[in-house]
Amino acid sequence: MILSHLSVKICGFIKMKDEFSTLLADIKEQVLYMQELGVESFAVDLSETKSSKFNVQDSNSEMSRESLEKFVPTEIPKIQQPKVSNAEANQTRKNLLKTTKLSRLPSLSKRSTILSDNSSNQTREPAREIEMPKKTVDEMPSLFGDIKQTLPESNETIEDIRLDIGNCTRCPLWEGRTKIVHTTGNFQADLLFVGEAPGANEDAEGVPFVGRAGQLLNRIIESIGLKREDVLVGNVNRCRPPGNRTPTLPEAHTCRPFLMREIAVVRPKVIVVLGNTATQNLLDTKIGITKLRGDFQNYFGIKVMPTFHPAYLLRDPSKKRETWEDMKKVRDYISSLK
Ligand code: URA
Repeated sequence: MILSHLSVKICGFIKMKDEFSTLLADIKEQVLYMQELGVESFAVDLSETKSSKFNVQDSNSEMSRESLEKFVPTEIPKIQQPKVSNAEANQTRKNLLKTTKLSRLPSLSKRSTILSDNSSNQTREPAREIEMPKKTVDEMPSLFGDIKQTLPESNETIEDIRLDIGNCTRCPLWEGRTKIVHTTGNFQADLLFVGEAPGANEDAEGVPFVGRAGQLLNRIIESIGLKREDVLVGNVNRCRPPGNRTPTLPEAHTCRPFLMREIAVVRPKVIVVLGNTATQNLLDTKIGITKLRGDFQNYFGIKVMPTFHPAYLLRDPSKKRETWEDMKKVRDYISSLK
């Protein structure tokens, strides 16, 4: 009797010890991440944290076919492109292919050229459309309610999209830019990060996320066991807004089709949208990042994780904890696919 009582106690003790070890390992992992991101204080503002799971399926957020068309716009503001002769344009294309690795980027079978054969003094075509989604995907908690769509097949390449962007003057932001900041990184990546628009450093270098926010983004990427060159990084807008202001809706809507076309070519497994502008523009919602972050959303069958923008984390480092939680979900989802 005493012996059996003792063995029950010992078993209970062993179980507690296991739970305690798991807890310690969890704490260790969190602390390492915090150190990696440079967190110095662990103060938490409980009033700001998410108290309950947010139901995103309100009437504004449901994605109808009509709003879907906004993703693959049928209309792009009139282009005021410099006139380019066919010979000049073909030479530009050849030079681009020679000097970059674009020709080795995902190239789909029905590859088409954006340059027309006739007329020697033609303006470039507006951004092309891609086919509307037709198939359905598995059930996934989604911003878009019951509508489950897959991305349309793309018949273009990244270099087609770059050539279409050209020396873009489609929105007023071109006037203040130094360089167009295109999506960069691994075009075969499983993971795409999307920010808002270039800042001063990005505008000078022509590469997204190279300033302080970019360095923090690199640490966030490394915290889930990846390197910057393993992933793809881009923005909703490719030109720097004056004074780093948020892009206006027309500016964002003019530029985002290019990002969406890139997504249709690359077809990443997960998209991490950084901050309000990226989240609201990719998911076509007015819901804010504080409510959406931490829960996977659906972009035509691709999982989307909204999380805080690194520039915001620089201003409020206490929010890094939540970003870490979001990134763990991304890491776990990607490793579940392997
Ligand atoms: N912030 C962004 O949103 N994008 C960048 O490329 C840099 C800073």
